[in-house]
Amino acid sequence: MDRIQMKNPVVEMDGDEMTRVLWAEIKKELLEPFVALNTVYYDLGLPNRDATGDAVTVEAAEAVKKWKVGVKCATITPNDQRMTEYKLHRMWRSPNGTIRAILDGTVFRTQIPCPGLKPFIPGWTQPITVARHGYGDLYKDTEFRIEGPGQAELLFTGADGSEQRATIYDFEGAGVLQGCFNKDSSIENFARSCFEYALGERRDLWFSAKDTIMKTYDGVFKQTFQRLYDEEYKPRFEAAGIRYFYTLIDDAVARLLRSHGGVVWALKNYDGDVMSDMISTAFGSLAMMTSVLVNADGCFEFEAAHGTVTQHYYRYLRRERTSTNPVAMIYAWTGALRKRAELDGTPALAAFADRLEQAVMDTIAAGTVTGDLAALMEPKPASVDSWQFLAAVRKRLEA
Ligand code: NAP
Ligand code: MG
Repeated sequence: MDRIQMKNPVVEMDGDEMTRVLWAEIKKELLEPFVALNTVYYDLGLPNRDATGDAVTVEAAEAVKKWKVGVKCATITPNDQRMTEYKLHRMWRSPNGTIRAILDGTVFRTQIPCPGLKPFIPGWTQPITVARHGYGDLYKDTEFRIEGPGQAELLFTGADGSEQRATIYDFEGAGVLQGCFNKDSSIENFARSCFEYALGERRDLWFSAKDTIMKTYDGVFKQTFQRLYDEEYKPRFEAAGIRYFYTLIDDAVARLLRSHGGVVWALKNYDGDVMSDMISTAFGSLAMMTSVLVNADGCFEFEAAHGTVTQHYYRYLRRERTSTNPVAMIYAWTGALRKRAELDGTPALAAFADRLEQAVMDTIAAGTVTGDLAALMEPKPASVDSWQFLAAVRKRLEA
């Protein structure tokens, strides 16, 4: 059989632990037999990030800028425990944070429809997309441990030498301190990509933040969305029969739980991180959620929303049977290949991505599922391990 050719490469970013194991397996079983994979490979596994002083992460992000399409495996964000486990030279920053800071985009996360699975919120009959601002805030913070009494100040020195200064707190003892930022340009790109995405999907757009507390910081987000809507997007939204509105994040949570879903919910960086995990869990499994970072220059980075599934990896290392769900990782690849096909005008590659997704859906519908999905189904089917699942998908793909 002739394999499908690719005109331009996809930037491939390998990762850690269980997802790294499955990454190689997905390529071997489901991609390479059918597609002459053309990738620019970067090893973002923690040992290589440590060996390159994290330069590999920056290089990978620059490559996504160049080639427009990337696909990323989950990666470890080091903490104290990882410092000893991997004997690291430094506690490297989150690779996703680094990549997002370079690409400056919005992360759209949506559930993968799963045959036979009912959401925990019975009213949610339509998918919910969380649009997470992928730049700044807590993910690019500067933080101190305060060891004793003293005054903390916020100081901005303008390029012209002018100063803006405010007291944050007069510490009477030890504590912690944090500073974070965002930029008008990034906030505007965030708002634009959300409006465009909602129009593309023909779904209502909500933006929510906490401008009652962070009157200036969150206020700028709120005003930016409103200004762009009033000045540019309102007629297009009305023509599409959809609407945009802002509401406090507390109110949005309450509304969402009572809704039928079917909305695009735009959130600041941290809110989007937490809420997308909550929503994916409510829809079933973290392993059934796609995640794509889109920026204003038309760069796309696809990944699974879950992490490296550490506990499964430790079991795998002990040679125990593991049933880690590879579906979101497969969809990261199909998303990237489909986007590559769209940009390059290679319909055979797009058709392959569709066929692979259909094979995954048919496999699940036939009752061949990993443990996480089996646990959610009624009656509960027997689960297969990750390798059996991939083999079943391959069989359908070949048929
Ligand atoms: P996680 O890897 O997403 O796993 C949390 C739990 O969710 C797992 O223990 C497992 O539950 C379940 N789970 C997640 N993905 C699954 C899958 N594909 N199939 C079946 N079950 C799945 O999150 P974590 O344990 O908080 O983080 C582990 C590492 O991943 C950390 O080092 C973190 O830094 C990193 N991380 C990376 C990314 C990223 O690169 N995008 C995102 C988040 C976290 P059970 O154990 O109950 O089966
Ligand atoms: Mg998260």
